[in-house]
Amino acid sequence: MADVHFLQAVGVSKTYPGPVSSGVRNINLDIVPGKITAIIGESGSGKSTLLRLLYGLMSPDEGQVLFKSERIWGPEEKLIPGHDEMKMVTQHTDDLNLFARVWDNVAAMLPSTNVKFKEEQTAAVLGQLNMMELAYKRVADLSGGEKQRVAIARAIITKPKVLFMDEPFNQVDTSFREGLQHDIRQIVKENGITVVMVSHDPAEVLSMADELIVIRNGEIVEAGAPKEMYQSPKYLYTAELLSNCNVLSAAEAALCGISTDKESVVIYPEWIRLDSLLKATKWTVDQILFKGFYEDLILENSGVLIRVVNGEHNRFKPGDQIGIKVKKWLEY
Ligand code: ADP
Ligand code: MG
Repeated sequence: MADVHFLQAVGVSKTYPGPVSSGVRNINLDIVPGKITAIIGESGSGKSTLLRLLYGLMSPDEGQVLFKSERIWGPEEKLIPGHDEMKMVTQHTDDLNLFARVWDNVAAMLPSTNVKFKEEQTAAVLGQLNMMELAYKRVADLSGGEKQRVAIARAIITKPKVLFMDEPFNQVDTSFREGLQHDIRQIVKENGITVVMVSHDPAEVLSMADELIVIRNGEIVEAGAPKEMYQSPKYLYTAELLSNCNVLSAAEAALCGISTDKESVVIYPEWIRLDSLLKATKWTVDQILFKGFYEDLILENSGVLIRVVNGEHNRFKPGDQIGIKVKKWLEY
C-alpha cells in the first residue's frame, strides 16, 4: 500500500483487569478506505474491544491507533471521546430522543444553519433507508429493530469518514435485514464512507463486506476477501464462523470416502452431492429441516450425522437410504 495510511492499528493491546485473559493483543491492521471491513469472531473474542479502540472510546495499553497518520486520542486525553470524522452505531440505542419523532432525531444531527439543506438531507436518508413511513412516529413507539434503523440513519446523515457498526442489526427482523444491509452498502459506497463492522452472522459479513478480519482470543488470525476466505479458510475456526459446516474426525470422514492423516475434515453442506443410485448407500435420512426454497437433510451413518443442502423438496423422506459424493472438503 502507499505510505499514506488511512486507519491503522500498530501493535495495539488492551487487557481488562481480572484473572482471565481478555481484551485484544498485538493488533496490526490497515483499514482500506472506501471499503466495508467486517471483523468476525466468536463471542468474547475481542471484536467490540477492537472497535472501541479504533474509535477512541478506549486507550490501548500498548501500541497506537492512527487515522491519516495522526494518533487517535483516548478518553483520558480528549474531553469528548470518539473521533470527529467517525461515527459508531451499536446494539444500544440510548442516545435517541425517545419523545421526539424519527424525523427530528435524524435531522438533529445536522446544524440548523441551513434549514433547507437539513430538510433535504433528512428526507434523502430516510428515503434511502426506506424509513419514510416511520418519519412522524415517536421513537418511544418503535420496535427495537426500528430504533436501530434510526440510529443508523443518524450516523449516516453526517457522512462520517468512518462508520463503525457493532452488531447493529441484531434486533432488526430478518425480513428487513437483507434489504437494510443492501441499502447501507449502497449509501456508504455512494458517499465513500469507510465501514468497519463487527458481526458473528456469516450471511451478514459475506454479503456486506469487502474485507474480512478474523479475530480469536483477542488476536487477528487471518484476513482477506470474503469469497476466497469462504472457499479456503486457513483455520477450522474460520470455517466454523463462515459456514454451518460439518466437522468430522479422520475416522468419521472415512465414512464419506475421505482418507486423511490430518485431525479434522470440514465439509460444507453444499459440497455434498446426493445420489440415491450410488451403490455404497449407507446414509439414512434422519431429519429434514425446511429452509424455504431449500432444505437441509441431516443424514446418519454409524452414529455420525452430517448436514447436506438439498434443493429438491419431496425428493427424500425420513428413513430413506441415500448415497453421497463429497465434491470438496478441507483438512485441518
Ligand atoms: P466480543 O465483542 O468479541 O464478544 P469483547 O471485546 O466484548 O468481545 O470482549 C473480549 C474479552 O474481554 C471477553 O473475554 C470479555 O469478557 C472481556 N471484557 C470485555 N469488556 C470488559 C470489561 N469492561 N471488563 C472486563 N473484561 C471485559
Ligand atoms: Mg461485542
